[in-house]
Amino acid sequence: MKIQDKHRKFGRPADVPTPVGRQETIRQHIISVITGEPLTAMEISGMVKIREKEVNDHLYHIQKTFHNGPLKLIITPPECKKCGFVFKKREKLKKPGKCPLCRHEAIQEPLFLIE
Ligand SMILES: [Zn+2]
Repeated sequence: MKIQDKHRKFGRPADVPTPVGRQETIRQHIISVITGEPLTAMEISGMVKIREKEVNDHLYHIQKTFHNGPLKLIITPPECKKCGFVFKKREKLKKPGKCPLCRHEAIQEPLFLIE
């Protein structure tokens, strides 16, 4: 994917589906960058050159794939930087908008690590 894609305001004309083989390659790339090194979805997005939303989709699949395997996807839950509230029960991997306790918007993003 070209770097400029990141800066486009709108999606591709018909949002052409990405071929399966390419998805696998991206997934392998994500796995390689977070193996042994925890990263946020934004950092992964920058390294793998895909949108943050796509990173979350891939992580979701990686998590399912690893369910019974020797490798584990470890997610450090998001945490409020002000009061320390931890978003433990959040099902989705997305970063929350604001803290439900103190309404502070500075949230430490979740970290993803493969071990
Ligand atoms: Zn808070």
